Amino acid sequence: MRRPYIAGNWKMHKTCAEAAAFAALLRDALDDAPHTVMVAPPFTALAAVSEVLKGSAILLGAQNMAAEETGAHTGEVSVLMLEELGVSAVILGHSERRHTYGETDELINAKVKLALAHGLTAILCIGETLDEREAGLVTAVVERQLEKGLQGVREAQLNGVVIAYEPVWAIGTGRTATPDDADSVHRVVRNKIAALYSKRAADDMVIQYGGSVKPDNAAGLMAKPNIDGALVGGASLKPESFIPIARFDRG
Ligand code: PEP
Repeated sequence: MRRPYIAGNWKMHKTCAEAAAFAALLRDALDDAPHTVMVAPPFTALAAVSEVLKGSAILLGAQNMAAEETGAHTGEVSVLMLEELGVSAVILGHSERRHTYGETDELINAKVKLALAHGLTAILCIGETLDEREAGLVTAVVERQLEKGLQGVREAQLNGVVIAYEPVWAIGTGRTATPDDADSVHRVVRNKIAALYSKRAADDMVIQYGGSVKPDNAAGLMAKPNIDGALVGGASLKPESFIPIARFDRG
């Protein structure tokens, strides 16, 4: 049975003090949440949020990490640094990393393998652009991103992998895939996991949806059989929107 997993990606929002205060509020409101809940503050706020979340059920995530453990990589953050702060999950291959910062499937794959080698959950983001969707390439794109992103990952490591399907045209735009639309791509993802690994691996894989998830559309998306949670951007920044999403009820 897959446990729903709600993750909040705070992107480049909140100073250290703001992040700590918000984390304290979420800790008090969501400690008994019925689903797995994770928040991913900016790197600069990880230590402060880690302190606030100590002993709470809310997981601490990072928004990215370097593909190497250490070395001359100005401006990068290492998996070792994340581990030290109590980070247990890392978002990899987010569309903003792929499309604004030019991250390739190969680079993302190296990060996924490094995260898994260190026992972190790798949230592998995949999803098509609007042009790709209009050209009928949704299946081809998500299958390629999955195959390349998981290259060299063994089936025994998959319990450390979460897939986030985030159609690029739905991120931060207010446009959401309909529940049926999203579910049909999630089915493609699950079938590809079955083809790459096994039916059991596919049945166990947690697949989040991301793209303008809000309190009023969360339950409808999550009611679909292949949607196991959400990666939330904008709506994760305010308690009045994130708390109801994290407490969504499938009915
Ligand atoms: C995201 O950044 O992963 C995301 C889905 O953003 P938003 O919820 O704002 O569309």
